[in-house]
Amino acid sequence: MDIAPPSTNGDELELKGVGVSPGIVSGPAFVLAPEEDAVVVRDITAADVPRELQRYEQALVATRQQIRDLQHRMTESMGKESAEIFEAHLLMLEDRAIYDEIVRMLGTDLKNIEFVLHEVTDRYATALRNLQDEYLSERAVDVRDIARRLLRNLAGRSSSALAEISTPCIIIAHDLSPTETAGLNKAKVLGFATDLGSPTSHTAIMARALGIPAVVGMHDISLRVAAGDPLLVDGQHGLVFVRPAAERIERYARKRRAQSAIRERFNVLRDQPAMTLDGYHLPLAANIELPADVEVAIANGADGVGLFRTEFLFLNNVPTEDEQTEAYLQVARRLAPATAIIRTMDIGGDKFIGHLKMPQQVNPFMGWRAIRFCLAQPEFFKVQLRAILRASTLKNIKIMYPMISNVKEVIEANRLLDEAKNELAGRGVEFDQDIEVGVMIEIPSAALTADLIAPHVRFFSIGTNDLVQYTLAVDRVNELVSNLYEPTHPAIIKLIKHTIDVGHEFGLWTGVCGEMAGNPLLVPLLVGLGVDELSCNAPGVPLVKDVIRSLRFAQAEELGLAALRSGSAEEVLANCRALVGKIAPEILELVE
Ligand code: PEP
Ligand code: MG
Repeated sequence: MDIAPPSTNGDELELKGVGVSPGIVSGPAFVLAPEEDAVVVRDITAADVPRELQRYEQALVATRQQIRDLQHRMTESMGKESAEIFEAHLLMLEDRAIYDEIVRMLGTDLKNIEFVLHEVTDRYATALRNLQDEYLSERAVDVRDIARRLLRNLAGRSSSALAEISTPCIIIAHDLSPTETAGLNKAKVLGFATDLGSPTSHTAIMARALGIPAVVGMHDISLRVAAGDPLLVDGQHGLVFVRPAAERIERYARKRRAQSAIRERFNVLRDQPAMTLDGYHLPLAANIELPADVEVAIANGADGVGLFRTEFLFLNNVPTEDEQTEAYLQVARRLAPATAIIRTMDIGGDKFIGHLKMPQQVNPFMGWRAIRFCLAQPEFFKVQLRAILRASTLKNIKIMYPMISNVKEVIEANRLLDEAKNELAGRGVEFDQDIEVGVMIEIPSAALTADLIAPHVRFFSIGTNDLVQYTLAVDRVNELVSNLYEPTHPAIIKLIKHTIDVGHEFGLWTGVCGEMAGNPLLVPLLVGLGVDELSCNAPGVPLVKDVIRSLRFAQAEELGLAALRSGSAEEVLANCRALVGKIAPEILELVE
């Protein structure tokens, strides 16, 4: 089914995918041909088998070395966690089952090693791809990545066609493997767009870390674009324009000018507080996924970390208590005296972690996720709680529980936290005895019973991504209903306001850490509703700060009051747009 037919404007073709790494770039297309087509079949004799096997062994050695080199380079430029994926690749190279199958098939089928390798790894990758588990299914990409590298080495080529790129271009490919992405030369690769891919894939994570604008999940872009076609990529909105029309180029040129004007201000903004023109100050923190991201948060002038999504530490394996402690300490030390809110793992939903043996669920977002998963496995959960506590000696760590739907879960989590504290005290380990504990308010039942939850916590942080999903019954990752995903829906405005009011009644500060906090158009609305703290994606911090510093508190209050009275999401959004257009027109230009 062609869900979103491409739209055209003259000769221009507009293609939509999922923006996974922001930025606007234009340049000629470099279309990467799929390498699998190049695999040829040759008959061999039984006497040739040892020679073929020897070629395979040599390719294994060369591949191993290349991956180690890549791992080393990535560790230096992006930190240990980003390079961890290569550990998984190295393990795959050692996989006995694959090796044995290759040896067996060489002997029985009597075909050249390239063909046998392709057959075996293809079967293996297809089996993985067909698994419902998103994490395992993503690993099919890794198997193909390794196989391609081995095939290249068998052919005596150490690098892919990507290495031949000599002038700046935009890569169009059916898929880009994580190692291909990691090896991209930023000076030559302006951006990329692929048929396959998802925002949580390693390829997307690498693109963001490298700062290369990228759009994935474009279905068939590799068939629609020819080498040399002029392209314009909008990595934020997931758009690729093929042969862009003159007015499109002009519009994006304006956006780019607005971007660079703002970027110039960023250097000044970095050290300025997020304060309105009339002196209302609210902390503006950043969301991070891995400890190394704290550098990006600091570089963008964040006041701290408002959400550390610790489940990303569990992406490849289950870290030990010591490893987790080290990860949290890295953030705490780097930020001190600023604070970090460490959210306990939010595993489940769209974040399937295969090696944790999550059962398949029909409705994963409403299933065994986050705090539910943790409370069902107290010993497993306490490992993380102890690690967070051990990292709290600088007294700049707070703990936050995700996906709370009733007060019993908070009481139970706190009981386990007390146990974790006692266990550490018994071991004579130091920690912050008065560590603050808060909850995410991201399920309507939690918002509506905030008064029952409040006595058990020190803060609320509203997770608008899930709050919108659960309140409006709109799957946050289903593009078929994305038009119904409305953060300015009156129900959302009322739930946010209610949570903030209850928080204040109980003397708790209430923040927002969902994407809404990073949307410059909606920030004045949140300020007007009375939020005490915002936390957004790190690159979004300067924009949000810029809006706040262009705003008068009275304007925000007026916007908030009007939103509470309004019965229409469109009207609220139009008011937000009008206000930002008045106080910071270049920001409106940029985000529209
Ligand atoms: C949210 O739901 O708004 C949130 C911040 O958490 P996540 O996006 O990790 O679910
Ligand atoms: Mg959430």
